[in-house]
Amino acid sequence: MTAPSSITIVGASLAGLRAAETLRRDGFDGPVTLIGAEPHEPYDRPPLSKQVLAGDWEPDRIALTPSDKLADLNLDLRFGTTAVGFDLASRTLRLAGVGAPPDGETLETDALLIATGARCRTLGPPLQGVHVLRSLDDCLGLRADFDAAPDRVVVVGAGFIGAEVAATARTRGLDVTMVEALNAPLIRVLGPEMGEVCAAVHRDHGIDLRTGVGVEGLDGDGRVERVRLTDGSAVDASVVVVGIGVIPNTEWLEGSGLALDDGVVCDASGLAAPGVAAAGDVARWPNRRFGYLMRVEHWDNAAAQGAHSARALLGATEPYQPVPWFWSDQYDRKIQLAGHVRPDDEVRVVAGSVAERRFAALYGRGGKLVGALGFNRPRHVMRYRAMIEQGAAFEEALAAEV
Ligand code: FAD
Ligand code: NAP
Repeated sequence: MTAPSSITIVGASLAGLRAAETLRRDGFDGPVTLIGAEPHEPYDRPPLSKQVLAGDWEPDRIALTPSDKLADLNLDLRFGTTAVGFDLASRTLRLAGVGAPPDGETLETDALLIATGARCRTLGPPLQGVHVLRSLDDCLGLRADFDAAPDRVVVVGAGFIGAEVAATARTRGLDVTMVEALNAPLIRVLGPEMGEVCAAVHRDHGIDLRTGVGVEGLDGDGRVERVRLTDGSAVDASVVVVGIGVIPNTEWLEGSGLALDDGVVCDASGLAAPGVAAAGDVARWPNRRFGYLMRVEHWDNAAAQGAHSARALLGATEPYQPVPWFWSDQYDRKIQLAGHVRPDDEVRVVAGSVAERRFAALYGRGGKLVGALGFNRPRHVMRYRAMIEQGAAFEEALAAEV
C-alpha cells in the first residue's frame, strides 16, 4: 500500500495527538491537519477530576505536550473548529468554526483519523449549579462553585466521574451525597462484589451514598436547590455534578458511508474503511484477544490506539488486541484494573486485605484469567496483566507467586 498523500485527524485530544506524533515518528512527511472543537491545545483529562478540581494544579500543568514540541510536528492546527460532516466517496470534510475557517469550509483529505471521543449525558432542566465534567472549561466552572463553599454537593451517578468527583469534593471538606441507580458504585466495570468495596471506601470518608435509587428530577428557580429521587425522597443541593456516562461523538459522521453503532465500527486493525481509521473513546473494534467488539473509555487505550490506528493508515495490518488497563485515584487509594470484566465473572481476592482497602483480586471467566484489580497494588496489577496477555488459565493465576 502506498502512503496517503494527506491525512486529517479530527479530535485534538489524547488519541488524536498520539496519532499525529506517531505519523511523524514513523516518517510520514506529507500534510497532516489536526482539527479540534475546543479552543485549547491538547490537554490531559484525568487531572480534571483530581488535581485541578482539588485546586492543587492550575491548567498550565496539564498540556499533553509542550507548545514548542507541538509546533515541531509541523501540523496544520485548527483549534476551535468542528467537523460537521464527512463524505467517504469524495473524502471531503465539512467544517464549522468561529472566525477562520469560515462556517461551511470544506477540506479534502486522502486519509482520515477519527478521534472525536465522547461527550457527557446530561440531566435536565438546565439550572445554574448543575455540572457535567469532560472539558477543562467544565472543570473550571465546577471548581469555581466548589470554591464558593457550597452547603452540599450532590453527585448523580457513581461511575468514574461520580466516584472521583465525590472523593475530591470530600477531600476539600465539602459535604457530599452520591446517588447511584445500581446497587453499588462502579458495578459495570468492577462487578457487584468489588463495587461494594468501593461503596465502603466512600462511606468510610463520610459520603452519604444512596444506592439502588434513581433521580426523578432537579428543582430550582434559576439555580439548583434540590434533587428529587425515585423513592420519593429529596436532597437539598447547592451544586450538582452529573456523571451518568457518555455518548460517542459520531453524529457528524451520519450519512458519511461509515458504519456507526455506539461508536465508529472498525476492523481488527482500526480501519473503518480503506484510508479511514478511528481511535480512542469513539472507536469500536473487535479485540481478538477477548473475542468480541469493544469500545474502551480510558486513557491508556486512547494513547495506544491513537498510535496503532495511525500506523494502520500508513499500511500496517497488525490487529489491535490490547489488554485494556485503567487507574482511578479516589482519596488515598489508587484503584487499577487490567482486563475486561463482566458483572458475572468469578472474583477472588489473592493478596492483601479488603478490610484494609489494600488488596489484589482476580476475575475469571470460562476458566481463563480475564481481569486483575488492585487497590494500592500496582505491581500485582501489572504482573497479572502480563498473565492475561499470555492467555493464562484462572487456576494458574490463582496459584501464581506474585
Ligand atoms: P477525548 O479526550 O474525548 O477527545 C476528543 C476531542 O475531540 C475533544 O477535544 C472534542 O472536543 C473533540 N471533538 C469532538 N467532536 C469533534 C468534531 N466533530 N470536530 C472536531 N473536534 C471534535 N482514564 C483513565 O484511564 N484514568 C483516569 O484517571 C481518567 N480520568 C478521567 C477524568 C476525567 C474528568 C475524564 C473526562 C476522563 C478521564 N479518563 C481517565 C478517561 C480518558 O481521559 C479518556 O479515555 C480519553 O480522554 C479519551 O481520549 P480521546 O482522545 O479518545 O477522546
Ligand atoms: P460511567 O463510568 O459510565 O458511569 C456512569 C454511571 O452513572 C453508571 O454507574 C450508570 O449506571 C449511572 N447512571 C446512568 N444513568 C443514570 C441516571 N439517569 N441516574 C443515575 N445514575 C445513572 O460514566 P461517567 O462516570 O459519567 O464517566 C464519563 C467518562 O469519563 C467515562 O468514559 C469514563 O470512563 C471516563 N472517566 C474515566 C475515569 C477513569 O478511568 N479513572 C475517570 C473519570 C472519567 P449504568 O451502568 O446502569 O448506566
